[in-house]
Amino acid sequence: MAKSQNIKSLDAIIVGAGFAGIYMLHKLRKLGLLAKIVDAASGVGGTWFWNRYPGARCDVESMFYSYSFDEDLEQEWEWTERYPAQPEILKYINHVTDRFNLRNDIELETSVKSTVYDENNSKWIITTSGDINFSARFCIMATGCLSAANIPDFQGLKNFKGRVFHTGKWPHKNVNFSNRRVGVIGTGSSGVQIIPEIAKQAAHLTIFQRTASYVAEAFNRPLDESEQAKTKKNYSEIRAAAKKTFGGFTNVANDQSAMDLSLEACREKLEEGWQAGGNSLMVAFNDIADNENSNMRAQDFVRDKIRQAVPDLELANKLSPEHLIGCKRLCLGTNYYETYNRDNVTLISLGKEGVEGLNADGVIVQGSIFEIDDLVMATGFDAMTGALSKIPIYGKNNVSLNDSWAAGPRTYLGLMTYGFPNLFIVTGPGSPSVLTNMLPTIEQHVEWIAECIEYMDEHNIRVIEPYLKSQDDWVKHGNEIASKTLRYSCSSWYLGANVPGKPRVFMPFIGGMPAYREKCSAVVAMGYEGFKLSKNTE
Ligand code: NAP
Repeated sequence: MAKSQNIKSLDAIIVGAGFAGIYMLHKLRKLGLLAKIVDAASGVGGTWFWNRYPGARCDVESMFYSYSFDEDLEQEWEWTERYPAQPEILKYINHVTDRFNLRNDIELETSVKSTVYDENNSKWIITTSGDINFSARFCIMATGCLSAANIPDFQGLKNFKGRVFHTGKWPHKNVNFSNRRVGVIGTGSSGVQIIPEIAKQAAHLTIFQRTASYVAEAFNRPLDESEQAKTKKNYSEIRAAAKKTFGGFTNVANDQSAMDLSLEACREKLEEGWQAGGNSLMVAFNDIADNENSNMRAQDFVRDKIRQAVPDLELANKLSPEHLIGCKRLCLGTNYYETYNRDNVTLISLGKEGVEGLNADGVIVQGSIFEIDDLVMATGFDAMTGALSKIPIYGKNNVSLNDSWAAGPRTYLGLMTYGFPNLFIVTGPGSPSVLTNMLPTIEQHVEWIAECIEYMDEHNIRVIEPYLKSQDDWVKHGNEIASKTLRYSCSSWYLGANVPGKPRVFMPFIGGMPAYREKCSAVVAMGYEGFKLSKNTE
């Protein structure tokens, strides 16, 4: 517990200086609240601060991976490429921080040691690694969905004598791989981006692949002024239309089943989707994610693309995924498959057993040692709950969030959880979050939370907490929808399957953005239906 002389009293504390935390601070300031952000990093940007590995780039188009809350900001910022590279995103979030003069309320290099609810005073006590601790009526967790690195417990890792990196915790200096033998474990979105970059530099690159990935060509390119001007002219209309789509993306699904066409006609449409770049392939038809036969047509199409890119049939087969496409998140790449044609690149298929371990010299797979100088783990994240589970959070009756969520996360709307009054989560489990374009999704949550706090103050309400029943009903509803989808069937991080021992629960809400937004608005319209609101006098 914090020492009382060091406690600074605030209206709200925000944990995390990523896109969610920055906008939250801006909104709360506008309401006249005293709020601060704390973040362990030495700069703002959240996931984009940490994921600075070579090739790191967003797979949502830059013009829509941006805030919409301020028209001037929207109009003045110039993006340089279709898909923004990490340095440009970091520059953007720094620009926003300065533009709205937020920096003086951000405590960097300050990690949260514990967050404890003081029931008598209805306040959260936040103990930090810094000199100041905080007490605040509201605690807002803007800790991100993909921010806690998943570092597998490889046997013998500590004996490895070379350099070890994780894509999600990349050093702040240039890492030179020239003349080095490099091993990469992991072929998800991060691996797919870093592999072609390391291959260009390293003496030799060995990739250890447990599951092959479907990788759509990004077709990244510079953005010219006229293209930007055209989008900027119609920004609000385009963004409004995107909010009506399942994932809040700008490309609207072709309203047709892949099975309605002959195989030849179907492949023509898939080719159009492929050439449009990014996730356009997945929306070439309206049922690739839902109908096994349609999905199979899209799978076959990508497997053919792999065979075209990689003439060595055995190698192409090793790179060809067998699972449903879109079940794990579709990766976007640039020359990913072609990289395997290089003489300095070797692919090792691990099979289900994975990596056996490491010794001083390298990676051990089925008894063979693959000697390397550097190991890069592109092994992903303890998604959606990892960042929260690392902070000791104690709610009512001193119950910890980790205990409450021992069988998987439970929230009402992904925004709040029973037993933790006045603690909000931005894009928490139980909300569409990672299945959508994160920027509009973050904005919706931040605005909902700010509106809720404003309502509470206007109505003399001190505390908000979901009823257990509303939470149970929401979790049940989410599970019912998820269990009928194809995505439920594969071992993805959506289900926590990438972290040994993590409960298998489909964490994001998969009912789509429009239905979710409607539900959130309806809850507000009904006077925060499903939440217990307690007055100041109670
Ligand atoms: P990921 O998708 O979870 O991929 C991790 C990779 O590491 C997988 O290939 C996984 O194999 C492998 N792996 C994990 N543990 C392993 C073990 N013990 N032994 C061998 N292999 C192991 O993680 P990520 O690539 O960092 O991406 C996570 C998410 O972050 C993405 O889905 C995306 O949402 C986001 N992201 C986005 C971008 C972008 O915008 N372009 C870039 C990077 C990340 P299995 O598949 O067999 O588990």
